[in-house]
Amino acid sequence: MRIMPNRMDRGFFRYQAEFEAKALEVLRSGWYVLGGEVEAFEKEFAAYTGAAHCVGLASGLDALWLAFRILGIGEGDEVIVQANTYIASVMGITINGATPVFVEPDAFYNMDAEQIEERITERTRAILSVHLYGQASYMEPITALCRKYGLKLVEDCAQSHGACYRGRMTGTFGDIGCFSFYPSKNLGGFGDGGAIVTDDASIASDMRMYRNYGSEKRYYNKVVGANSRLDELQAGLLRVRLGHMEELTRERRRLAERYNGLLRNDAVRLPQVREGSDSVWHQYVIACEERDRLKAWLEEKGVGSIIHYPIPPHLSEAYEYLGYGRGSFPRTEHCADTVLSIPMYNGMTAEEQDYVIETINEFR
Ligand SMILES: *Cc1c(COP(=O)(O)O)cnc(C)c1O
Repeated sequence: MRIMPNRMDRGFFRYQAEFEAKALEVLRSGWYVLGGEVEAFEKEFAAYTGAAHCVGLASGLDALWLAFRILGIGEGDEVIVQANTYIASVMGITINGATPVFVEPDAFYNMDAEQIEERITERTRAILSVHLYGQASYMEPITALCRKYGLKLVEDCAQSHGACYRGRMTGTFGDIGCFSFYPSKNLGGFGDGGAIVTDDASIASDMRMYRNYGSEKRYYNKVVGANSRLDELQAGLLRVRLGHMEELTRERRRLAERYNGLLRNDAVRLPQVREGSDSVWHQYVIACEERDRLKAWLEEKGVGSIIHYPIPPHLSEAYEYLGYGRGSFPRTEHCADTVLSIPMYNGMTAEEQDYVIETINEFR
């Protein structure tokens, strides 16, 4: 048996008729950018998260950098972010000329809230909380610190569509929640896409201006903006998938519970979920001191796996200029050396999952 780490085709074929009907509807409409599908998706996604406003964008990275741009965070400002994140989180900060200040992860791979306060300086302007692998971060101390020091709070929800902390959805705790709809995400489109959610009407209207060359009215440009529009085709297809999100999330939870109950190998640590947080299992991430040997063993048996992420941002070539080296963030580096995402996707069969479980349990 060959099992891929992710199967985006399964999510398409399950709702094939609906997706195809919507695609044809949009193609035949003659309107392809900023129209009724985007407007409807924005309303539906805002309602799904519980936020007042949603603005569709071209990608998750755009959501992040435009969020900081609109909050006025740039040169000379510092933003606190966890060190063990996907590099796009950090790029959202540095594209604006601001400086990322890294914090190590907790036992759940999210920002260790206990380390934040000691990293706050007079230049700190915001915290970027990443709900990594689909699990909501520990929000109480983070929101408390933002209040205490007057900091903005931006959330990177690219992996956490639908995940709640104490019943409230990720993306709605701070000033701006940033989402990606890249095909492999829990709410994935068929190309690139992203969005922000916010309760602040002026942030939402600024975002609408920035995504469209800084213009509110055609040919009147107030700021130097971007071309970052969610297109009609993606928005229409995302509406179809959003209509099935509860079922899709339930299925991922069932798969994760099965892994939790049946994986048994002393060399492998299973993912933990914090009390009060829930996970939508964007990834099912195990850890193993002999990770590379485990990965090779799985590969040999036909089971694909992925490392999220092998090189932490502070050690990547792009961020050499920040001046960190190996040893700067030992917990983050240990994560990079030990984590492994095993197959987890909507439409995974019991037979496929049993084979993955059996293969991991046999690893010696
Ligand atoms: C995918 C991802 C992004 C970037 O989203 P794109 O749509 O690919 O630009 C940002 N942050 C995290 C944590 C992600 O997983």
